[in-house]
Amino acid sequence: MARLYDSRKRILVTGGAGFLGSHLCDRLIAAGHEVLCVDNLFTGTKRNIDHLHAHPRFEFMRHDVTFPLHVEVDEIYNLACPASPVHYQHDPIQTTKTSVIGAINMLGLAKRLDARILQASTSEVYGDPTVHPQPEAYWGSVNPIGPRSCYDEGKRCAETLFFDYHRAMGLRIKVARIFNTYGPRMHVADGRVVSNFVVQALKGLPITLYGDGSQTRSFCYVDDMVDGLIALMASPDTVTGPINLGNPAEFTIRALAEATQRLAGTALPMVRAPLPADDPRQRRPDIAKARSLLRWSPRVPLEDGLRRTIAAFRERLADGVLADAARAPLGATAALAERVPA
Ligand code: NAD
Ligand code: UDP
Ligand code: UDP
Repeated sequence: MARLYDSRKRILVTGGAGFLGSHLCDRLIAAGHEVLCVDNLFTGTKRNIDHLHAHPRFEFMRHDVTFPLHVEVDEIYNLACPASPVHYQHDPIQTTKTSVIGAINMLGLAKRLDARILQASTSEVYGDPTVHPQPEAYWGSVNPIGPRSCYDEGKRCAETLFFDYHRAMGLRIKVARIFNTYGPRMHVADGRVVSNFVVQALKGLPITLYGDGSQTRSFCYVDDMVDGLIALMASPDTVTGPINLGNPAEFTIRALAEATQRLAGTALPMVRAPLPADDPRQRRPDIAKARSLLRWSPRVPLEDGLRRTIAAFRERLADGVLADAARAPLGATAALAERVPA
């Protein structure tokens, strides 16, 4: 349903053809806004936004945010950046450029337009945390020169840029520290744990457990995350963040593997692979700030979210869309194939 013209905004979503970005585009269109989706299709796919192409308030632009972008919008959600370790480590220099130069360009755009701008930051700014759960006041424990650094330090530098533009030029900024989020439209060759386990369960492949599976993560369903991002953007200008968005229910990776199998109705062997370098041992958000400032907290428990994700992947596999894997970015499929015995 369209909103009144004067409350309709023109909103830029970078990374809008990706997993989170495409759900955000859906929600903004449904709220009556005009959406400009900018994406270089590195990890995103046109398929994620196929259903929006015919919509009169939706526009897609293929563009890399490391290059300047001259458009006219009222609000910017900066989500462009590969999020899966397999993908962001494929071309680490490009990952850092995307975070840092991408942030500079989007901040320059926001400055020219006096537009609100939201940055999709990450729980990875906490690195392998020594404080648990992680509150926003914790400065993190990040290796600056390891294989994850391109992502972690890139995102940390993007946060620095956001706060410097805010302090120096009064830009209206919002920084969301997003914790592990999952759901339909994750790429089948994404390489992250939920999509790996779901694809393996549905294809009858062994479940790949990195390390002994005792490391923990806290998983947030995508609809909850989109609610959180929109609530943050709508918050008063004094709420800049950084603000944690995530589901505080914490699980070991082994427990996730077992839950996925139970819900998919499979009992497959688990194969062990070495724990990747610098893999955080534990992660759980302290969301007190989001609760009090945004009146937001996640609603979808892991079992429900997993059920919906499994159902969506089942449909995609039945469509033969697993062939998507063959169109995954160079290296990603190969990296996944190394880990997932065919
Ligand atoms: P994704 O890989 O599905 O989406 C990222 C999108 O950005 C893709 O469509 C990709 O093609 C696009 N992109 C990458 N580099 C680009 C560039 N240089 N120019 C333009 N577009 C580019 O990942 P996602 O899970 O949807 O993540 C979205 C954002 O949220 C990312 O910034 C990520 O760091 C952040 N985030 C996600 C999670 C999560 O668990 N999903 C957790 C923390 C942070
Ligand atoms: N920029 C952009 N779109 C705009 C305005 C700026 O992509 O509409 C880019 C611009 O190319 C620059 C960056 O944003 O590299 C930072 O802009 P800013 O004005 O802060 O810095 P300056 O142009 O003075 O270096
Ligand atoms: N993981 C795993 N098997 C897989 C993929 C990932 O055991 O097939 C583990 C990984 O080592 C990490 C956790 O699951 O401890 C989450 O990994 P993911 O890549 O999803 O996200 P991140 O490490 O960035 O939180």
